[in-house]
Amino acid sequence: MSAELAQDLNDSFAGLKPAERLRLLTERLPGRIVFTTSLGIEDQMLTHLIFREKLAIDVVTLDTGRLFPETYALWQQTEETYGRRIKAKYPQAEALEALIDDQGINGFYFAPEMRKACCGARKVEPLGRALAGASGWITGLRRDQSANRERLDFVSFDGARGLIKANPLFDWTREEIRVFTVDNAVPVNPLHDQGFLSIGCAPCTRAIRPGEVERAGRWWWEEETKRECGLHVDEAGQPVRAEDGRPA
Ligand code: SF4
Repeated sequence: MSAELAQDLNDSFAGLKPAERLRLLTERLPGRIVFTTSLGIEDQMLTHLIFREKLAIDVVTLDTGRLFPETYALWQQTEETYGRRIKAKYPQAEALEALIDDQGINGFYFAPEMRKACCGARKVEPLGRALAGASGWITGLRRDQSANRERLDFVSFDGARGLIKANPLFDWTREEIRVFTVDNAVPVNPLHDQGFLSIGCAPCTRAIRPGEVERAGRWWWEEETKRECGLHVDEAGQPVRAEDGRPA
C-alpha cells in the first residue's frame, strides 16, 4: 500500500456512488479489507451496502463492554436483517482486569490519562488486532461531522498502519444519510432520535443540546483540546484529536 495508490483511488472515484466506491476498493486493494462499525447511522448505511452488495469486506465492531443496550439490540437486529454476522473484537481480559484494578470501573471520569488508558485497552488495542494484516480500512468518517474534517478525502494512506484508509461517505451529509436509511429501511439506533447523534460508550456519551455540534456529547467533561480517541492516527502514528478522528 502506498500514498500513490491512495492518490490514484482519489482520482478514480469521481462521480461514483457509495456502493460503487466500496466495490472499487474491493477491486483495487489486494488482500483483506476491514470496515469497522460503531453501528452509528453512517456505519449502518455502509453495512447495508456491504451486505446487500455481497462485497468481500469484513464488517467488524469493537465491543468495549460499555455500549448502550440500544446498540447491542441494533447489532442483533442488523444481523437478523441481513443474515450476516458482524464480527467483534474484545479487550484483552488480563489488560482490562489490570486497568480496573488500577483505576476502578469508572476511572475514565477522573483524569484524561485514565480515560485514554480505558480507550486504549477497550478500543485501540482491539482495533490493532482487527486491522492486523489488512490492506484497507473503511470508516464512516464524514466532512460534515466537524470543521476539522472539512478537508477529508475519499481515501488516504495510513502510514502508521501501512494501509489504505477509505471514507466512502466523506462527502455525504448526515441528512442525506438519514434519508437513505429511511428510503432503504436500514435499521438505525433509536437513540439518534433522542439527541444522541454520535454514539459511543454509554458512560462517555450524552445527548447534545440544540445548537451543539454533532460530537459535543462525546467525553463532554474533558477540555476539547484533550479529547483524543486514539483510533485515528496521523502518518507519524500520533493520535488525531477526537474532533478530527472518529472513535468506533
Ligand atoms: Fe472507556 Fe469511555 Fe473510552 Fe469507552 S469511551 S473505552 S468507556 S473511556
